[in-house]
Amino acid sequence: MDPILDGLNPAQHQAVTSPAPILQVLAPPGSGKTKTLTARVAYLLSHHGYQPQDVICCTFTIKASREMRERLGKLIGQRLQSRLILGTFHSICRRYLVKYGYLIGLRRGFGIADSDDSRAILRRIIKRLNSGMEIRAAQGRISRHKAHGLSPDALAERVKAEELELVDIYREYESALAASNLLDYDDLLLRCGDLLREHPECVSNVQAVLVDEFQDTNVIQYDLMNLLAAKNRRITIVGDPDQSIYGFRSAEIQNLRRMQRRYSNTSVVLLEDNYRSSGSILTSAQEVIEQDTTRPAKKLQPTHSYGTLPVLRKLPTANAEAQWMVLEIKRLVAMTGSLLRMSDFAVLLRSASLSTRIETAFGRAGIPYNMVGGRKFFDRTEVKTLLNYLRVVSHTGHTDALLSIINVPPRRIGDETIKQLTGGAEKYSVPLWTFIKDVIQGCRSTEKKLQKAAELGLCSLVKLIEASRQKLQDCCDASAPRILLEHITESLSFQEYLIRTYPLDEDGRWANVKELMGQANEAAANDEDNSEQDELPDIEGVEQQQSHAGEEALSRFLANVALATDLTTQEEGQEGEKALEKVTISTIHAAKGLEWPVVFVPAVYNGIIPHSRAEVVDEERRLLYVAMTRAQALLYLSLPLRQPRIGEGEDSSTSLTPFLPGKVTKTRFRPTGPRLHEKVVYAIADILRRPRPSEEDMLKALSSLPSTLDDHWTAEGEEQRDAATKWESLNDAPNEPYPKRRRP
Ligand code: ATP
Ligand code: MG
Repeated sequence: MDPILDGLNPAQHQAVTSPAPILQVLAPPGSGKTKTLTARVAYLLSHHGYQPQDVICCTFTIKASREMRERLGKLIGQRLQSRLILGTFHSICRRYLVKYGYLIGLRRGFGIADSDDSRAILRRIIKRLNSGMEIRAAQGRISRHKAHGLSPDALAERVKAEELELVDIYREYESALAASNLLDYDDLLLRCGDLLREHPECVSNVQAVLVDEFQDTNVIQYDLMNLLAAKNRRITIVGDPDQSIYGFRSAEIQNLRRMQRRYSNTSVVLLEDNYRSSGSILTSAQEVIEQDTTRPAKKLQPTHSYGTLPVLRKLPTANAEAQWMVLEIKRLVAMTGSLLRMSDFAVLLRSASLSTRIETAFGRAGIPYNMVGGRKFFDRTEVKTLLNYLRVVSHTGHTDALLSIINVPPRRIGDETIKQLTGGAEKYSVPLWTFIKDVIQGCRSTEKKLQKAAELGLCSLVKLIEASRQKLQDCCDASAPRILLEHITESLSFQEYLIRTYPLDEDGRWANVKELMGQANEAAANDEDNSEQDELPDIEGVEQQQSHAGEEALSRFLANVALATDLTTQEEGQEGEKALEKVTISTIHAAKGLEWPVVFVPAVYNGIIPHSRAEVVDEERRLLYVAMTRAQALLYLSLPLRQPRIGEGEDSSTSLTPFLPGKVTKTRFRPTGPRLHEKVVYAIADILRRPRPSEEDMLKALSSLPSTLDDHWTAEGEEQRDAATKWESLNDAPNEPYPKRRRP
């Protein structure tokens, strides 16, 4: 039996082996789309004789591409796997631009502006133009125009007079990016599109293009897909319109139909069986999505047993909700014997800002967790500072990075000095860095003379950056980021600076710096192991950009940071041991395509789901659907009866999300976590395809249960009876008193 086809069902088998050049695999969550796509990549290599470096495979998140690499490693071997062009659209585009960007006039060593950088630039512009526009709004609107391929000039021709303000901001934003040699996320895609249109020879080797999560591609990504596949016109996509949740970022569900129109030879394969979740989870998820009456009816077909009913739980406050999750996780780990571990749990949030309480509760209770989709690590001040140093070293024209480190650690460069410097740079139309150097060399001067101390401060900064740039030139391998970090922290006496500035927390801060260095080290090792992984194949007759190995390593390190912070987290870098024993806390958006044995979806109340700021209610419903269908064996939904206080004033009351209608809650949910007797535990084991714990293990687990948890469990049992009679009131009486717990 061919290991690639082993264990596929007939529909999956058909999709994997289909000779159709243009193939769409459409299917609900958990039906094996990603598995099928992965197998098809392996099949194309082994049965069609494609070379891995001629196959492009796009995933939606960095985590997903890692998982796919891992699965492919097992199917076709590490060596072949590492040569595939596999990654997110953004990372693939970056690779093409690094290698061939010079063909469309891109400067060498461009950096990537992540969302924070974009906002910083916009903040500056909006302030200077005295515009009242909200920064995030401007960012969103500009990004949408970019996604539709509208330049500032093109936009100016279309918009009404009162919208010209945005055009000005947009225009300045573009020139600020250009001045700092930065590309934002949209540019990565757009410029790569330009490159491939003007120089299709860059992808003349490509034999097949495969795309996962196609329902969330936007128009630009759709165009890119076609451009990448222009030569051989072999495309496979997998997707599910019911899971389209990136409309707010201009994803277009119509791309499915657009593709069918463009390629009249499109074949479609439908998968139906669900291999992920218990029947009860699928039933309730189905009832959520079916409320969208405009969608074509589709059934989720379980292959597993019905299992335990999902839990829907009300708690008095958001803190109590977090606390309840802590207890429930501890209880499940303790009571399922060796079956469930911390890494089997996920908490999925509508918005990252909901995580604070949960993180605090987990922290206090000693539950290890990994925050995905937030920006925890790279956001920490000391980490950000060092990254900004690296960015300035990589490209001195990076004005925002330069401004953020100009007086960190303090160099006696005050606001007035900064004003003089930025004003001067603007007046002479030169980058800030150039102006600073001119000033200290005496070739230019500021309007008002700078203080001596400030001048000395500027000298020391310039000296450090120039010395670092020299170090970078001298370093011809992947170790550049680490060497620079060492050089910069030493020259700045960064540890002493942290001790001085954060006397109570200097240990933790320094630990973060060490972690960053660790990551730079790891990146270097990875570069050496997978020297091919990031490379595109050479193409005869197309000259590639000459690059300096050290500079390229630094810019790759910074790009990985910038791309990782969008949807995923740094801590993914440390898969393996460390990640194994942690609960995942993630946004629903970043949980796409993934699965966990136990999933909590807290805060399912009106205002969060659907979000009060959401524009498309259907998309919010699909979000809940995506969240629920991540669960394999146990699903918990919950809400606080009072909404957390924002600012001053009373907490306000909450009501359950309208996506769970009353009749559903009564028959489809239980009010408390399941009592974990043998039968339930065995059912969980079967769904997870894990060995059932022995009776002995179960008994041991039960007897070793900490008494606090036991209390919790008994109290739950009583509440279960109480609450069962209260279902009716769940929707219409959101403020009903929380059932009292009797102390044992
Ligand atoms: P989503 O829409 O959420 O991305 P998906 O359709 O991509 O889901 P996969 O992640 O590929 O689904 O598969 C879901 C789970 O089902 C995985 O654990 C996978 O290993 C398992 N699975 C898929 N097909 C089969 C099969 N034929 N036999 C056994 N398990 C399968
Ligand atoms: Mg998938």
